[in-house]
Amino acid sequence: MDMQTTFRSRLYAAGLLFPTGVDGLVGRNGVFEQIFTGLESAITRAGLADRPEVMRFPPAMSQKTFERSGYMKNFPHFAGTVHCFCGDDKAHHQLLGKMARGEDWLESQEGADIVLSPAACYQVYPIVAQRGALGPDGHLVDVQSYCFRHEPSLEPTRMQLFRMREYVRIGTEAQVLAFRADWMERGQAFVDTLHLPYEVEVANDPFFGRAGKLMADSQRMQNLKFELLIPVNDGAGPTACLSFNYHQTYFGDTWGMVNADGTVAQTACCAFGMERLVLAMLRHHGFDPADWPAGVKQTLGFE
Ligand code: AMP
Ligand code: ZN
Repeated sequence: MDMQTTFRSRLYAAGLLFPTGVDGLVGRNGVFEQIFTGLESAITRAGLADRPEVMRFPPAMSQKTFERSGYMKNFPHFAGTVHCFCGDDKAHHQLLGKMARGEDWLESQEGADIVLSPAACYQVYPIVAQRGALGPDGHLVDVQSYCFRHEPSLEPTRMQLFRMREYVRIGTEAQVLAFRADWMERGQAFVDTLHLPYEVEVANDPFFGRAGKLMADSQRMQNLKFELLIPVNDGAGPTACLSFNYHQTYFGDTWGMVNADGTVAQTACCAFGMERLVLAMLRHHGFDPADWPAGVKQTLGFE
């Protein structure tokens, strides 16, 4: 395909995205962020009546929390750890020498007790667990975080660092399943207000390795994950822009979250891929929000 006509190259040419030289790592301009902010507000409005507890996080989490979450068992290929220089003057001198000679200088870096967050909801569970047993209504959280996944790609929708907004429900099986069924409806109604085409399908997470294939099959068979997919990229299949996940007791068991009746808490989340939604809007409505349909502009608070 002509490089000047790919969606990605058009985004760069229009100045909506700034390349950094690393696949999946981009900057965004004011128009992109204006759409992003409009979407954030619309998502807030869509969930406001349920009075969720709001949590916002930096892009990293504690290494201990990350370890206990079990992420490395299932997705070691996505994880990103943070390392720092902790040496003395001599070590500094050696480090600069290695850099100047083009040698590997990272081997002398030390772990910083911090890991990049792989999903926004991972930060929520230990905090809720620490408070003790849930009340009879369980709990609902509205969380947003930058997330990191090491999956470099030329597709503009597949980023290594992106923002994930989620509603997270914690409670009994009935509460959590009702939440997910409700948000699968509300998610579609939300995307309708953006005038975007979509389909909803059963899905699986990209679990690592040979055992991962079995995990993925089992996840699909149990209908634990659904995705709302929107065509965004050139010639590729549609892109997952929202996910509706049911974790059963996985995080309840991991963090010791307990319902009011003493049973292990279950969890579910509805996740919005924020940059993907912005890109879907640009793809379907054009690069100038001033020309977008009136209903869409109204949803985003543009008029
Ligand atoms: P997941 O935990 O994989 O279901 O991710 C939640 C949501 O984040 C997905 O529905 C996507 O919209 C978004 N997402 C996942 N991976 C990426 C990525 N590499 N780049 C941008 N958005 C992503
Ligand atoms: Zn989640």
